[in-house]
Amino acid sequence: MKTYNTVIVGGGASGILSGIYLDDKNSIILEKNDILGKKILLTGGGRCNLTNNATKKEYMKSYYNSGKYYIDAFNTFFNEDIRQLLKDNGCNTKVEEDNRVFPVSDKASDVVNTLTKILKNTSTKYRLNSYVTSISYNEGLFKIKYNNNVIQSKNLILATGGTSYPKTGSDGDGIVFTTSLGHTKPKNMGGLCPIKVEETWPRKLQGITNYVSIEIKANKKSIVKDSGSIIFTHNGLSGFIILDNSMIVEKHLRKNQDVIINLDFVSDYSYESLDKTLQEDFSNNSNKTLKTYLHKYLPKNMAIVFLENIKIDSNKILNQVTKKERIKIRDNLKKTTLTITSVLENESMVTNSGVKQKEINPATYESKIVPNLYIVGELVEGCGICGGYNLQKAFSTGVLAAKTIRDKYYDSY
Ligand SMILES: Cc1cc2nc3c(=O)[nH]c(=O)nc-3n(C[C@H](O)[C@H](O)[C@H](O)COP(=O)(O)OP(=O)(O)OC[C@H]3O[C@@H](n4cnc5c(N)ncnc54)[C@H](O)[C@@H]3O)c2cc1C
Repeated sequence: MKTYNTVIVGGGASGILSGIYLDDKNSIILEKNDILGKKILLTGGGRCNLTNNATKKEYMKSYYNSGKYYIDAFNTFFNEDIRQLLKDNGCNTKVEEDNRVFPVSDKASDVVNTLTKILKNTSTKYRLNSYVTSISYNEGLFKIKYNNNVIQSKNLILATGGTSYPKTGSDGDGIVFTTSLGHTKPKNMGGLCPIKVEETWPRKLQGITNYVSIEIKANKKSIVKDSGSIIFTHNGLSGFIILDNSMIVEKHLRKNQDVIINLDFVSDYSYESLDKTLQEDFSNNSNKTLKTYLHKYLPKNMAIVFLENIKIDSNKILNQVTKKERIKIRDNLKKTTLTITSVLENESMVTNSGVKQKEINPATYESKIVPNLYIVGELVEGCGICGGYNLQKAFSTGVLAAKTIRDKYYDSY
C-alpha cells in the first residue's frame, strides 16, 4: 500500500494552498470534483472576492466565535500574501468598496486557473474525481479509502469545506470524517443564510438589489441596525447585511420570539425632509406618473410593486396624489416592515459550525485529539462575515497547516 507524507482531502481554497505550500512529491490532494476550486468559481458573484484589504485589527472583529483564533494563520499568510502570490503568477488584483479584493479581470476563473497553475508547478500531486469515503487512524498512520483504492499517510489535512452549496462538493463529509476520528459532532451547521419572510409581495421583486438601512427587532426590541445591499429572493431576502446578521436572527427565532425587519429605502432623508421633497416634486413635475417618479428612490422594477403593496395606483399623475397618499408613500419608503419566519440554513453561503475551535490548535491547525491530523478552511468552526474573510481564512489556515508539516518533516523531504 502506498504511504504518503501527507494526504490532503479536498481541493478547494484551503486544500490548494496547503498543496502549494507543502510542495512535496510525496504528498497528494484528493478532490472528488473534476476540477479544483469549484466553489471559488461561484464566489463574489463569479468575480471572486478573494480577500479583504482590512487590517488585522479589523479582521479580528470580522469572524463569529473568535477572530483572534485565526491570528497565527493570518500572521503566516495574510491578504497581501495571497495578492502577491497571484500577482507573481499573472493574476493582478484590485481593491473595491469596503476593502474587498477582486481579480482585475473580474473573473473567478482566473483565480482558480492561476492557483491550479501554481500548484502544478510544485511537487505536490493532485488527483481529481477522487471521492474519499472513509478515513481511519491506527498506529501513527491514516488509512484513506477513495474510489476503489486504499492509501496510507503520515499526515492528513482535511480541507473538505463546510456544508454550504453541497453541489460544489462540500457536502459535510469533513464532519463525518472528524466525528469518526473522535471530534465532537456540531449540533447544527448554521452560517450566513438568507431569510424567509411571511409576506408574499416581495417575491415579485425576486432578483432586485437595493441599498437600504435595516433595523431588525425581536419581540419589539432592536437587535440589529445596519445598512448595505439587500437582494429580494424567491421567498425573502438575501445580500450581505442579511447574511451577516442571519445568525443573530436565528438565535431569536429559536427562542420563539417575533422577529421583524424594517427596511428604510431612503435613509438619506428624514421623515420631514422626505415629505418636503415629495411635496415640492409633486407640484413641480405635475405630469409625471407616480411609478416613474419613484425611480428617484427605488430600482426601476420595484416602484410598481411597492405602490401595489400600499394600494396606490401607480399610474396616478403626481398632482392628483392626495396628502394621505403622500404620507403613506413617505412612511413606507422610510419603513417597510416584513415578518421573518425562518433562516434558510439549507441555502447558507458559508457554514459557521464545524470542528470546534477548542479541539484544534490554532498555532498549527493540528487536531488536539488525533496527532498529525490537520483541519483547515471552512471545516473549522467560526465563519467570517461577507467581504473576502472566508476565503482568506481558508487560504491562511491551509498555508499554516502545510508550513507546520513542512517544518516538522523538513529533513526528510
Ligand atoms: C455562492 C458562494 C459565494 C461565496 N463568495 C465568497 C466570497 O466572495 N468571498 C469569500 O471570502 N468567501 C465566499 N464564499 C465562501 C467561500 O467560498 C468558502 O468559505 C471557501 O471556499 C471555503 O474553502 P474550503 O477550502 O474550506 O472549502 P471548499 O472551497 O468548499 O473546498 C472543499 C473541497 O473539498 C472537496 N471534498 C469534500 N468532500 C470530499 C471527499 N469526501 N472527497 C474528496 N473531496 C472532497 C469538495 O469537492 C471541495 O472542492 C462563498 C460561498 C458561496 C457558496
